[in-house]
Amino acid sequence: MAYKIVIDPGHGGSDWGASFNGRKEKDDVLNLAFAVGQILENAGIDVEYTRTTDVYNTPYEKATMGNNADADFFVSLHRNATGTPNAATGIETLVFNDSGIKAEMARNINENLEALGFVNRGVIERPNLVVLRRTKMPAILVEAGFIDNVNDNEKFDAQFNEIAEAIANGILDTLDMGELNETPLYRVQVGAFDSMETASALSSRLNNSGYPAYVVSSNGLYKVQVGAFANLANAVAMENRLRNDGYTTFITT
Ligand SMILES: [Zn+2]
Repeated sequence: MAYKIVIDPGHGGSDWGASFNGRKEKDDVLNLAFAVGQILENAGIDVEYTRTTDVYNTPYEKATMGNNADADFFVSLHRNATGTPNAATGIETLVFNDSGIKAEMARNINENLEALGFVNRGVIERPNLVVLRRTKMPAILVEAGFIDNVNDNEKFDAQFNEIAEAIANGILDTLDMGELNETPLYRVQVGAFDSMETASALSSRLNNSGYPAYVVSSNGLYKVQVGAFANLANAVAMENRLRNDGYTTFITT
């Protein structure tokens, strides 16, 4: 069975979250949620959102949506603010407490974002936050840079896709650790490259041919993989399809 992840774009509707020079946190995080969700869906994850439009729900309602979805993880996306322009910079991920798979996931995401040049402010315990406290599944809250920092905003816009990939890959890499579920997920690997451009080009070509391909970065390599299958037979069927189309493949977990 596929993993299910609820993505919670913070705030919404009358609640703008933080804002700076007309820029609203609620808009940034909704865009980011869709980008992260698309990558996760391409990797075979079942994704649900607490909102897909500009509407307000209380944090308690958002936590309840996650619980009702019976999701494996709850990922809330936010942008940080101090209220004083350019007073702080960087990314951080909040957790109820710094233990278990949620803390690993938080750390993986932070490290991926740090690799993009963000200051890594670490994994921070926030047991009083409703979306972290009232969710029954492992939950994290990513603060994707400061909305009241000009440099963080420039980075957010210029590296938007890389930021989405950093968050999505942090989630996927954590699932690969298999701590949640003993059943391994089988993926069909089509190539591994030093160059992200080469990997992205192959992934796009596969997407255009109808394959659920995506790029995973690990150990300094950009790996192009297709699907995530709990059932080995499904991975073998996908491999046969790819080989008939002329691709060289192997199955990895
Ligand atoms: Zn927020």
